[in-house]
Amino acid sequence: MVTEAQNVIDELVAGNKRFLEGQSTKSSALSLRRLKDFAEKGQLPKAIILCCSDSRAPVETIFDQDIGDLFVIRVAGNIIAPSLVGSVEFAASTFGTRLVMVMGHTQCGAIQATLDHIHHSHAISSENIHDIVSRIKPHIFPIARITGLTAKDMANRAVEANVLASVSQLSHSSRLIEGLVQEGKISIVGAVLDLATGQVRLLDPAL
Ligand SMILES: [Zn+2]
Repeated sequence: MVTEAQNVIDELVAGNKRFLEGQSTKSSALSLRRLKDFAEKGQLPKAIILCCSDSRAPVETIFDQDIGDLFVIRVAGNIIAPSLVGSVEFAASTFGTRLVMVMGHTQCGAIQATLDHIHHSHAISSENIHDIVSRIKPHIFPIARITGLTAKDMANRAVEANVLASVSQLSHSSRLIEGLVQEGKISIVGAVLDLATGQVRLLDPAL
């Protein structure tokens, strides 16, 4: 782990703790001042976060971060597709940001739709939604085949598997990103937000 990336993780963990304890520090007046400041001087986000579009997963809020802190890429199911990799490449190479986090969340509709598709061959109403499901499907297929899991356990394990697969894919699907990882300039980590509690848990890639 790159030291600077670990420091950012520590900041995010501390921010999530403040959020959980009702001690969030952000104020709209300060945010507006920061926005004006960054508009003049440009941005220098401390982390790039690829996460789901779900309305219950607002990244800045759950990490108690402000305008200019996070370069956030949101897409249903936090999938890896060319334009999303390009967004990470852009931020990592432009701002020198050291931490990339892929964050999934419990109760993810995209994951559940993919599980339903695997189990019941549910038809998918649009080609574009099918593109999302088909990217998630190989990541969670082995989990969908495990017998004896409750629906909730299966969904939670599928969310984690999808995050870890996205971390791995992101690390290897771009020569630029792979190079930055090898040079020790960025670290890529996975995490899951528990919607029931608001807590973010970092995932161990060895799992
Ligand atoms: Zn989701």
